[in-house]
Amino acid sequence: MVAVSKPRGTRDFTPDEMERRRAVEKKMRQVFESYGYREIATPTMEHMELFTMKSGEGIIDETYSFHDKSGRMLALRPELTAPTMRFYMEKMRMSPKPLKVYYFGNCFRYDRPQKGRYREFWQMGCELIGTDKPEAIAELIATAYHVLKGTGLKDVKLRVGDLELLRSSIKKLGVESPEIMRLIDKSDYEGIEKMIEGKEGADEFMEFLNCRDFNSLGKFFDENDVERIGSVLEWLSAFGVPYVLDTSIARGLDYYRGIVFEIDAPSLGAEKQLCGGGEYSLLPILGGDDTPTSGFALGFDRIIIALEKEGYEFPLPPEIVYIHPIGDEMRKEAVSLATELRGKGIKVEMDLMRRSMQKSLQYADRIGAKVAIIMGPDEWAKGMVTLKNMETGEQKEVEREEISKFL
Ligand code: AMP
Repeated sequence: MVAVSKPRGTRDFTPDEMERRRAVEKKMRQVFESYGYREIATPTMEHMELFTMKSGEGIIDETYSFHDKSGRMLALRPELTAPTMRFYMEKMRMSPKPLKVYYFGNCFRYDRPQKGRYREFWQMGCELIGTDKPEAIAELIATAYHVLKGTGLKDVKLRVGDLELLRSSIKKLGVESPEIMRLIDKSDYEGIEKMIEGKEGADEFMEFLNCRDFNSLGKFFDENDVERIGSVLEWLSAFGVPYVLDTSIARGLDYYRGIVFEIDAPSLGAEKQLCGGGEYSLLPILGGDDTPTSGFALGFDRIIIALEKEGYEFPLPPEIVYIHPIGDEMRKEAVSLATELRGKGIKVEMDLMRRSMQKSLQYADRIGAKVAIIMGPDEWAKGMVTLKNMETGEQKEVEREEISKFL
């Protein structure tokens, strides 16, 4: 046992795990960039105020926050939308619109840890600033869907809702909005029914919450009210994205408005939500104007878990070539050969333990080298080395200049 262990809810990642994570991250970035998003980065910590302005004082209990040495209250970021909006206000306001930025970073929440829920986790997400045209919102949703599909995930379910419809239904009922929104967000149907019991329109409200078909929305709303969601859904079809309408998406917080969406991996059970997003209005809260903004965040760790669950075969990193010099006089020659091959972009490891040939090649096998280069002094004097195929055991002499052709 070591004296100090890692903090609760955090994880270490082995080289194997990091290779998998980086491979998936790379694919996700490619899709964001194919939609014209460009990456930004913001600090890991922010003034606590940024998050309380956005989410209220309650958020303090859920964040890692502290006073620094000059007494400022700082927080490790629990998410990246507010930092992005701050950055936009400080530096990017003059950028041509629409402004499309994406990010990948670790976030911290003082959550109760369980599989798929951590205190340090990674989000990849984006913000679309300056447009709220239905095709723009549909493109945003399509980006989220294609980023997920691009990782190799098979089973993802996209649900799209409209907060204006939900809020106006709640208003018609005449109940306290934040409380019922919280119950809806948790899908606590018993709680909802209890809360609206006896209210005029309660049955109709429950029917609305369960509505999953756009054409049935006409029962509850005028044509005008459902025009926007109808249009976004039509554009989504144009982007080739399968979806279901879900009138019950609440997205918890007050600054969300208009079209909202969530994407799940049903195989993950309790922590199945991979992505949440939609239209929101944060700039006015931060002292800016009401430029339209929308975005989403993907839970990177859950994507990895979902891929593992689906039995996805993660791409293997490029193989390593191993160099074994025979005898001390060959060691410096091995260094120069390794340097030359590395310069050509080949991954190379050489014996750094002065092992015997047998032990050295056993090690090469353990690190997954497919080829070993054995450098004997007599051969080397003739400009030759021996290449050993680690899988078949087959060996052949080749000229030094020709080595890279065989790797
Ligand atoms: P949110 O910012 O709460 O909308 O979260 C966006 C996504 O981040 C969620 O859909 C999850 O996939 C992921 N996520 C949120 N909280 C955690 C957590 N504590 N651990 C791992 N992933 C999380």
